[in-house]
Amino acid sequence: MKEKLRQFMIGRYGVDDLSRAQIIVSMVLLLVSTFLSAFFRVNILYWLGLALLIYSYFRILSRNVSKRYEENQRYLNAKYRAVVKKNNLKKRWAQRSTYRFFKCPQCKQTVRVPKGRGKICITCPKCKTEFIKKS
Ligand SMILES: [Zn+2]
Repeated sequence: MKEKLRQFMIGRYGVDDLSRAQIIVSMVLLLVSTFLSAFFRVNILYWLGLALLIYSYFRILSRNVSKRYEENQRYLNAKYRAVVKKNNLKKRWAQRSTYRFFKCPQCKQTVRVPKGRGKICITCPKCKTEFIKKS
């Protein structure tokens, strides 16, 4: 049985981070949809979960390995960016009583300034644009 599965999977892409995440999300959708089916006749979450599950199996069994690899890389990049953003927000939240954060009007760089100095002229460290804000 195991040998047959191994032979079947030759040349196919297999499981990656993206398909693992897709299966988890589809399971959650299907689980929630079973609760909702008690109250609603049309259950869009059920169909969404089913479609996602079928799509994840399509990816696992796909023979277009390079395309699936590319999709997985895009997913991993997006996941990494989300983690970095979350950590930055966490840091900002921890410093909120001593610092204020502004966005440079020119280059959108976030600038951190000490709080409680009144109206100050801020020079962007990246593009040297000056702008006035109340700290
Ligand atoms: Zn700037």
